[in-house]
Amino acid sequence: MSEEKSLNFIEEIVEEDLRTGKHGGRVLTRFPPEPNGYLHIGHAKSICLNFGLAQQYNGKTNLRFDDTNPVTEDTEYVESIKKDIQWLGFQWAEELYTSDYFETLYSYAVELIKKGLAYVDDSTAEEIAAAKGTPTEPGIPTGYRDRSIEENLALFADMRAGKYKDGEKVLRAKIDLASPNMHMRDPLLYRIKHAHHHRTGNQWCIYPMYDFAHGQSDSIEKITHSICTLEFIPHRPLYDWCIEKLEIFPSRQYEFARLNMTYTVMSKRKLLQLVNDKFVENWDDPRMPTISGLRRRGYTPASIRNFCDKIGVQKRENMIDVSLLEFCIREDLNKTAWRRMAVLDPIKLVITNYPDGQVEDLVGENNPEVEGGEGHRIIPFSKELWIEREDFMEDAPKKFFRLGPGLSVRLKHAYIVTCNDFVKDENGRVIEVHCTYIPNSKSGEDTSGLKVKGTIHWISVPHAKEAEVRLYDRLFNDENPAAAENFKDSINPESLHVIERAYIEPDLATATPGKGYQFIRLGYFTLDTHSTPEHLVFNRTVTLKDSWGKEVKKMDK
Ligand code: ATP
Ligand code: MG
Repeated sequence: MSEEKSLNFIEEIVEEDLRTGKHGGRVLTRFPPEPNGYLHIGHAKSICLNFGLAQQYNGKTNLRFDDTNPVTEDTEYVESIKKDIQWLGFQWAEELYTSDYFETLYSYAVELIKKGLAYVDDSTAEEIAAAKGTPTEPGIPTGYRDRSIEENLALFADMRAGKYKDGEKVLRAKIDLASPNMHMRDPLLYRIKHAHHHRTGNQWCIYPMYDFAHGQSDSIEKITHSICTLEFIPHRPLYDWCIEKLEIFPSRQYEFARLNMTYTVMSKRKLLQLVNDKFVENWDDPRMPTISGLRRRGYTPASIRNFCDKIGVQKRENMIDVSLLEFCIREDLNKTAWRRMAVLDPIKLVITNYPDGQVEDLVGENNPEVEGGEGHRIIPFSKELWIEREDFMEDAPKKFFRLGPGLSVRLKHAYIVTCNDFVKDENGRVIEVHCTYIPNSKSGEDTSGLKVKGTIHWISVPHAKEAEVRLYDRLFNDENPAAAENFKDSINPESLHVIERAYIEPDLATATPGKGYQFIRLGYFTLDTHSTPEHLVFNRTVTLKDSWGKEVKKMDK
C-alpha cells in the first residue's frame, strides 16, 4: 500500500520558505540540549524532528550545547548526549557551544545599553518580581530604570570584572513594563554567578539568561528554523525583539508540542532525583526513559525513530500511551531478533526412554521472519532437560495443552513427549517430571502421525548456561506521575524482578549488548552492558504480548 503522507505544520512552513526562496533555499536547524542530564525519549522527538527536517530538505543540523548555567552542567553530559544522538543515527554538521559566544553576547548586551535598551538594576530578585506587576496589572519601574547610558556601560563592565557578588546586580532589557506578556516586562539579560564553567572555567562571572542567549546563538549560526517546545511561545516576542534591535540574522522560532508519555516522567530534573535517591541504578537504568536506558533495555535506534515518526508533530499538548513505544520495539524485534530458548523458572524433565549419555545436535533457525533464517544455531538435546515450572501441572484442567500426568506436548525443535510420572520433594513441590519420547516424532522428520496442541521450550541440563535475567515493569504505577504533588509517591516497588539463575542456550554466551533475542514464549531480551562472561545478565526489553497492536490495527481500518 503506497501511502502519501501529509505534511506536518513545520514541513509546511519549510516548504513555503523554500518556495519563496527565503534564506536562498537553505535549511539549517539545530538541536540545543543543555548539558545538565542525559537525553530522554522526549529529546529523541526533538532530534528526529530537527535532524529529520534537515535530511528531508537537503539541509544541515547543528548540535549546540546550551551551556549558560555553569552550576548544573558537566562534560559527562556532553559526551553522553553526543553518543546518544549518533546512536539514534544522526550526525550534526557542527558541534557548537553557547559558551563560545559569550564574548559576542556580551558585545550585544553593550550594544543594547548604547541604544538605551538595557539597564543595570541593583534591586533584589524579590524586588524585581514584586515590581513586575501581575498579568492584569502593569509593572512599575524600580529606581534604576533611568540610569544613563554611561552609567550602565560602566556598571555592566564592573559586573563583568567581578566587582559585585552574586545577585547584587542584573542587566535588564528596557522594553515595556505594561506589556500583557510578562516576558516583555524588562526581562533579565544577565546575572552574576561566580561559578566555574565546564568550558570557560573562571573566565566569566556574569552569564546570559536563556532569552538573551538562545535567539542570538541561532542568529550567529544563521539557523533558518529554530524549533522548540510550546512553553516557549510567550518567549517568542522577546526572541524577535532582540534580533530586531540588534539587527542580526533573522532566525525564526517555531513551537511544537513536547512529548508526554504515560507512566513516565520526562524532565531531567526529576530523572536526576530518581538517580540521586537511588530509585534506579543510574541514568542508563533500563527502566529510565533516557536514550541510554532504552538502549540498555534493548530498544533499537530504528524503533525509536519509528516511534517519533508515528507520534508526529502537533501544536497542542497531548499524552502518548507508553504502549505505543512498546509496540514499536516489538514490531522491530519481531523482524530482527534471533530466536533462542531460555528457562526462567526451571524444573527438570527426564526422558526415561532416551539413551543415557546420548546427545543430539538439533538445528534451529536464527530468524524465521527472514528468508534463509539468517543462519542457524546448534541446540544440544539430551535425556535431561530444564523446562518451565508453569508448563507442568499435577491436576491439569482440560484446556491445558502442556504437561501433566498422561499429557503430551512437543518439545520445540525436538520430539513429542508424554508425561508418565513426577517426583516431589519433602515440601510437596514438584522437582522432576518423567516422560517418554516418541523416537519418530522429531521436528522436520516426524512420521509418527501424532498431533499435539502445545509446544514448550527447554534447555538440555548438561549443556545449559546459567544467566541472571532481569524482568522490568513500569517505573510508575500512576498514569501521569508528574501531575502528582510528589511524583515519587507512585513509584512501582516491583518495577524490577531479578531471576538469579535462569538457564539459557549455550550459544547465548556469545551474545552482545544491543543484539536482540526473542526467548521464545517469554519476550525479547538483550545482554546487559554490565554482563560478564562469568556472570551473564540479560534484560527483558519487552514482553511478547501486544495489546496496543490490536488497537493500532483497528485504528487503521
Ligand atoms: P527537561 O525539562 O527534560 O530538562 P529541557 O527542555 O530543559 O528538558 P533541553 O536540554 O533544554 O531540555 O532540551 C533540548 C531540546 O529538546 C529543546 O529544544 C527542547 O525543547 C527539546 N525537548 C525537551 N524535552 C522534550 C520533550 N519532552 N518533547 C520534545 N522535545 C523536548
Ligand atoms: Mg532546559
